[in-house]
Amino acid sequence: MRNIAILGSTGSIGRNSLEVIQNLPGQFRVTYLTTNRNIDLLRQQVAQFQPKGVVVLDRANASHLRNEFGPTVEVLEGEEGLMEIVKRDDVDLVISSLVGFAGLKPTIEAIKHRKSIALANKETLVVAGRLITSLVKEYGVTLIPIDSEHSAILQCLAGEDRSHIAKLILTASGGPFLNRSPEEFDTITVEEALNHPNWRMGNKITIDSATLMNKGLEVIEAHWLFNLPSERIEVVIHPQSIIHSMVEFIDGSVKAQMGLPDMKIPIQYALTYPNRFHLNGGRVDFPKLNAMTFFEPDRKKFRCLQIAFDVLSEGGTAPTAMNAANEVAVEAFLNRTITFKRIPELIDRAVNNYAGFPSPDLGDIIDTDRSTRKYVHSLM
Ligand code: MG
Repeated sequence: MRNIAILGSTGSIGRNSLEVIQNLPGQFRVTYLTTNRNIDLLRQQVAQFQPKGVVVLDRANASHLRNEFGPTVEVLEGEEGLMEIVKRDDVDLVISSLVGFAGLKPTIEAIKHRKSIALANKETLVVAGRLITSLVKEYGVTLIPIDSEHSAILQCLAGEDRSHIAKLILTASGGPFLNRSPEEFDTITVEEALNHPNWRMGNKITIDSATLMNKGLEVIEAHWLFNLPSERIEVVIHPQSIIHSMVEFIDGSVKAQMGLPDMKIPIQYALTYPNRFHLNGGRVDFPKLNAMTFFEPDRKKFRCLQIAFDVLSEGGTAPTAMNAANEVAVEAFLNRTITFKRIPELIDRAVNNYAGFPSPDLGDIIDTDRSTRKYVHSLM
């Protein structure tokens, strides 16, 4: 039995992870669950999985639950609660599925305490890729990506020599605005942007998918996970979301990983890697698919994708600044403070304005994140 802590258990990845765990009886024990403020769902999860403890980021809700649970379930609170549970001996594996920059510090703490990491929080690698990969090496931990594209690449690389990779090809659905003309980007509503054609996900990543920033973040994530320069990472639009990514090898052979768009597949692979187990769910029905199509992304229309490639080439804290600006802009769009078109404009300004640290430590990364957020707020 492996003991699991799920950071962000009430989010989309957290809920899917619990389903996967439930369907693999005898393999995992859930020892800690965490939520920001969704205590109704947390209550149900506690009743079902009986963890030793929970972390509630919202302090008022934490003290409320502490009274309710009594001594049976420990209730910790705030970021220090997250930092505490990832150290404990009754945690072997941490599913890092917090949203955004908030995932960084607890993930670092977990690595330093030699926990295995199943990583869904892509922002962690985007803002601190060099730091994270060097810590993973130093502490000898396994870090397995949950993101479907990176899981696909990992699966394509099984049994392959990494020196035989020519390039990685990340697929993108193109999101809800693939066929909308740029002149009509003015009228995009929050509801339209949240209506992703193929995947049901949390709000932040769904907006990132609509701007294609999500693919940009994934390019940076792939760079750090597979140690390849941006020139050898390609993005191709594939609206059916059946191929989750591909690897081209030096002999011209290409491997693709396919499946229905269901996050339980990459989550289970991350938890049981390199093993496979039966998973209930739909199967690809090729005759019914009719066609799979591919085309080049429009980096002018989806400016965020171009910005991500640019900051990856620039390096240092440039991706940190881009990520911070994006988080602020997406939240403002969701709150209906800014339009959809403003998102890349704000990110552009933030990236052009900021003065970078070429080889940042954690303090530089936190400073860049903080100052960029402040700057973007001042623009709105
Ligand atoms: Mg993805």
